[in-house]
Amino acid sequence: MSGIVTRFAPAPTGFLHLGHVRNALCVWTYARTHNGRVLLRIEDHDRQRSRQDFETAILEDLDWLGFVPDERVPRQSERGDAYTRVLGDFLRRGLVYGCTCTRADVGGAPYANTCRDRGIPIGLDVNLRIRIEPGVETFTDLLCGPQSQSPAEQCGDLMIRDRLGNWTYQWAATIDDFLQGVTHVIRGMDLIDSTGRQMRLARMAGRERPATFMHHPLIMKSATQKLSKSDGDTGIRDLRARGLTPSDVLGMAAL
Ligand code: GLU
Ligand code: ZN
Repeated sequence: MSGIVTRFAPAPTGFLHLGHVRNALCVWTYARTHNGRVLLRIEDHDRQRSRQDFETAILEDLDWLGFVPDERVPRQSERGDAYTRVLGDFLRRGLVYGCTCTRADVGGAPYANTCRDRGIPIGLDVNLRIRIEPGVETFTDLLCGPQSQSPAEQCGDLMIRDRLGNWTYQWAATIDDFLQGVTHVIRGMDLIDSTGRQMRLARMAGRERPATFMHHPLIMKSATQKLSKSDGDTGIRDLRARGLTPSDVLGMAAL
């Protein structure tokens, strides 16, 4: 073993589609060609959108395609204790504050840190955010080359838990990648903008050496539209029902 650890981390909010299969090809190929390991992690941090039947279907489809992980790590809904422990550490360092802004208040813009100094009590009914200081994060993506991102300007103070008690993707994935020893994060290009903030968050949480990142091209529905879970025609279930074999599907995802 090389010490390389990567992961496949689907959200059980829909069926497995060709985009996931391309990601799985990249993850497993990287791990297998570098003598590394693959963790399988179900990212069900969003309790309202995640469904057990989607999780079951995703696991079945992966199995049908022949993607066998080296280890199944706990799903994110089972990681509350770990997230709370790291949150406690951030709280002690004065990095966390309560935010009562709604999604509509924030809009599509970076969060303006409106609640940073309002002293809103940190309860269960408010969003939790952490202070993100200005500064640049740089990394060399294995496919996209040198990158430089400024998390404070891109997104403002980062939400880590919402008022419903859902841990956010940025928090859950970053803490998991750190604590589960993931050395290589391999995922689609649509997530490259998250990388700077995840590197920052990981360092704040005590990660000394950042992960290595690789963001691969997505399978597009058309030149400008990416595939989404609602595109039934690319769902692995549907392709399978139409009589395609695992190797047909792998071929489609590799093109
Ligand atoms: N759970 C995310 C998704 O399904 C992937 C997150 C990641 O690879 O960082 O898109
Ligand atoms: Zn706010």
